[in-house]
Amino acid sequence: MKTTETHCPYCALQCGMTLTPGLPRVRLEPRDFPVNRGGLCAKGYTAADLLDHPDRLLTPLVRKEPGDRRSPLREAGWDEALSLTTKAIQAAQQSYGPDSVGAFGGGGLTNEKAYALGKFVRVALRSSSIDYNGRFCMSAAATAANRSLGVDRGLPFPLEDVARARSVLIVGANPADAMPPSMQYLDAGRAAGARHIVVDPRRTATAAGAHLHLQPLPGTDLALANGLLHIAIREGYVDEVYVAERTTGFGAVRAATNAYWPERVERITGVPEAQMRETVRLLATERPAMILTARGAEQHSNGTDTAQAYLNLALALGLVGRPFSGYGTITGQGNGQGGREHGQKADQLPGYRRIDDPAARAHVAAVWGIDPDELPGPGRSAYEMLDRLGTPDGVRVLLVLASNIAVSAPHSNRVADRLGDLDFLVVSDIFRSETAELADVVLPTAQWAEEEGTMTNLEGRVLRRKRALPPPPDVRTDLEVLAELAARLGRGEFFSSDPRAVFDELRRASAGGIADYAGITWQRIEAENGVFWPCPSEDHPGTPRLFADGFPTPSGKARFVRVEHRDPAELPDRQFPYVLTTGRNMQHYQSGTQTRRVKALTVALPEPRAEIHPDLARRHGIADGDLVELRSRRGAAVMRARLSDGIRPDTVFAPFHWPGANALTNPALDPHSRMPAFKVCAVAITRHEKGTD
Ligand code: SF4
Repeated sequence: MKTTETHCPYCALQCGMTLTPGLPRVRLEPRDFPVNRGGLCAKGYTAADLLDHPDRLLTPLVRKEPGDRRSPLREAGWDEALSLTTKAIQAAQQSYGPDSVGAFGGGGLTNEKAYALGKFVRVALRSSSIDYNGRFCMSAAATAANRSLGVDRGLPFPLEDVARARSVLIVGANPADAMPPSMQYLDAGRAAGARHIVVDPRRTATAAGAHLHLQPLPGTDLALANGLLHIAIREGYVDEVYVAERTTGFGAVRAATNAYWPERVERITGVPEAQMRETVRLLATERPAMILTARGAEQHSNGTDTAQAYLNLALALGLVGRPFSGYGTITGQGNGQGGREHGQKADQLPGYRRIDDPAARAHVAAVWGIDPDELPGPGRSAYEMLDRLGTPDGVRVLLVLASNIAVSAPHSNRVADRLGDLDFLVVSDIFRSETAELADVVLPTAQWAEEEGTMTNLEGRVLRRKRALPPPPDVRTDLEVLAELAARLGRGEFFSSDPRAVFDELRRASAGGIADYAGITWQRIEAENGVFWPCPSEDHPGTPRLFADGFPTPSGKARFVRVEHRDPAELPDRQFPYVLTTGRNMQHYQSGTQTRRVKALTVALPEPRAEIHPDLARRHGIADGDLVELRSRRGAAVMRARLSDGIRPDTVFAPFHWPGANALTNPALDPHSRMPAFKVCAVAITRHEKGTD
């Protein structure tokens, strides 16, 4: 049996693995690839269980009574499913205009599919209505990095550099649970004497192994960063030569941080002054040093400014662009990096180009063979689009790929209601997700091991995803579906279902853009263990490390941006006295559509656990294992309690891999990135009346 070298279907680490089809099942083994070096986590080891899972969608589904979503879904042929879809698209666009049909994509789509989806909406639908779940994931850090550094590549250096840093500040990330094989780099650094400081309201596995754990109140990370910068300035740790030669705007930031004296920041954040001083001392004296942020710092209604505050600190200390040093953000979804580069974002064209930039429009339109004036303008961001579904000026027909928004969107009950108000909902997935259950048409799509494509991992390394076995007979790839739908809409000549042809077109569309893939070929990816973008020509080596010689800003310098702490959009009060923060468990991935179906993972963690401090539990008569009800202004969720003295007594943690947590979360949006405030909302907690059930 032929063995295929490919990558894990889940997170942005994109661990290397081999697949060998056989009887009775596909054999999955780890392989030695630069990011995982032979390691896999439990999710990766069990990923082949998805391929022949009994819940797998093997044929399209349509409603038994068309137009009535209370009638059951029944099996149908592709022609019927796509005919219904085409008719719904045409009817909505005739009545309400082009923007009434839209798409919602995902950070798990290959580069080719993300690119094709963006093009499908702009060229086949001629609509501006497209966004994707990466808006809920990476948008805040991406906006800050673009604004400050002129480019957003999550890690601007290979992961292996982390092992060489002598001090690392990790803010709102828990790689020990989210991507365990990446810990080998942190572990190697620690073994060599590096000092790691973790900022997290919970004592996570990552925090437990660190030299220092700072435990701020959720929503105060920006104040903490400004406080650290205040100390760095006062104690003479600013790299004045670097700041003068390589940055602009420090004067305004220096002035702003005057107001963040340690006692005040301690009052806002709850982090003791001594810990702040020690953090700054380590970053300033244990060099090279790194600052890494992730969703804990970024998923806030001030997420862009919070990421910016840590960028400001990194720039002031002269870290960015130096060896084994710098600022990075840890991407979550499998193709969270590539998925935000090639046009499935409301304001974006391939190559990380802006859709409102005339030169970008002209370049991409030329590659696509259309007039630039045919291209629509920017559309609404993810939550803003979802919030208006079914309204007179909103989307009436929605196509959802690789996303389970009924579980993963903030204020998810409202989003589910809005999905119910659509004229027509089409969902492409491998399982009947909670979102697929609401659809008029469900399209069964090929899985990771059944198709070819490329992914871009958290380092900006472009990788090959390879086909190890064919999809089931009546299952199609998303590229095939988009090309067929485009043909039915009279725009078939613009689309290919061949992933290699789509990648070659993507290379041309991205040429000259920020995320330039022009010189990346499938052969090079194979030969070089992946290629780092930007890579403008086939004789260019790719760019593992950015910023050594300058920043891609008009001045060539990085920009400081003055940012100020403000309270989260929702504060605890008498009715909702605690802060809810959400996040990940080791055994599950995203909304759980896949991992909740893997037996080994559900045995290890069968249900969500609300993590609460024993003091808080005692106040409410809650014992470990009791069912508790969490209530916010938007909804309620019942889950079992897990008592832990590793969490702040004023904070409750709930994982988002099951329906429930996002019924509570607040859709207040960051004004810069339109990131919702997933990480802070006010909740009440009570012991559920069924007690221990
Ligand atoms: Fe897959 Fe991420 Fe686990 Fe690696 S760390 S095996 S990429 S889920």
